[in-house]
Amino acid sequence: MPRPMGPWTRAARSLLPQMRSWRQAFHEEPELANEEFRTREKLVTALRGLGLEPTVYDGFTGVLATIGTARSGRVVALRADMDALPVDERTGAPYASRTSGKMHACGHDVHMSCLLGAAAMLSRAGPKLRGPVRLLFQPAEEEGETGGAGPFLERGCLEAPKADFVLGQHVTPDVPTGMVGWRKGPMMAAADRFRIRVRGRGGHAAYPHRGPDSVLAAAEVVQGLQAVVSRARDPVDPVVVSVGMIHGGTVPNILPPEVVLDGTVRTFRPETRDTIERVIRKRVRHIVASLGATAKVEYHRGYPVLVNSPAVTERVVGILGEELGEDWLVELPSVVMGAEDFSRYLERVPGTFLKLGAGTPGLSGSLHSPTFLPPDESLVTGAATLAAATMGLQAR
Ligand SMILES: [Zn+2]
Ligand SMILES: [Zn+2]
Repeated sequence: MPRPMGPWTRAARSLLPQMRSWRQAFHEEPELANEEFRTREKLVTALRGLGLEPTVYDGFTGVLATIGTARSGRVVALRADMDALPVDERTGAPYASRTSGKMHACGHDVHMSCLLGAAAMLSRAGPKLRGPVRLLFQPAEEEGETGGAGPFLERGCLEAPKADFVLGQHVTPDVPTGMVGWRKGPMMAAADRFRIRVRGRGGHAAYPHRGPDSVLAAAEVVQGLQAVVSRARDPVDPVVVSVGMIHGGTVPNILPPEVVLDGTVRTFRPETRDTIERVIRKRVRHIVASLGATAKVEYHRGYPVLVNSPAVTERVVGILGEELGEDWLVELPSVVMGAEDFSRYLERVPGTFLKLGAGTPGLSGSLHSPTFLPPDESLVTGAATLAAATMGLQAR
């Protein structure tokens, strides 16, 4: 396949050295959720360099900037996330993280650099730009519960001027570099968290008959939760329940009075989300009661289901077909159980979340792995995608 070469792709390619240097600066100084102060500084400097006047906030590390404030056409909001992960980098890149235990292992360094690249092109577009473009640099996507989108929305990031469309993208090694993945309707799951405190009596491990054993009860709870998945919902409706942490005990010969289980629940349908929560609460109570133990279940609703507007997705796919070439677009075959707080913007404004190809044969580990390193080429496609889609959505 020949490389795509629409006007925005050509412009993005000429910006590649600049985007690469932004990306490397973000990458070598990763910051975890809600601690993105240095990242914010770099964004503010870059945006001022483009002639924009970024807004920053007290107690919130997001950055907002608007291109073409005075224009009267449709308002497009573009979002990039900012945070890194508690991962020890092993990519061997010359610009690898300088902080051990922190890494841009989810490609948010690429997302920010693509958005800056698109901003550079759009702010130079002159009268061809018909409406305002809001640039949303959002912290804390990885935080998982409150996230950064909620607090950003509370600060009016999609208001005044009110956004008509919202677009976002995420790199993925599952789509080849240079390509863009899209999907209409539901795309990513709702993510909830639970914590189960299983209480027993505690005491000498050589005398287990003297009281309920919290370790055994916790083990039965872990097993029993899988029966919730297999028996409490329609098999064709995707659900995941996973226990990711088990904490309890101090030494081998003492039964602890309490074992704490933490886990995640992924669902797609609102009614399934309600059912799973209800069934987990009930099932846990019954399981531990049968062993004489007790349990307290805390259940927190996290990010909602990510639903792409079918109409906006169709328009964006049409626009990108012209820019990138139809062969460079791929319809994603199925929903995924991962979650994204971009879903919160899509609850308010129609838009679409695209998957930016970062897969390279024989290279790049999976997202969140110590070896995940999207190639620079994804910056070209990512910036061109945002700029072309913005102009296209405003034009029609
Ligand atoms: Zn991630
Ligand atoms: Zn991510």
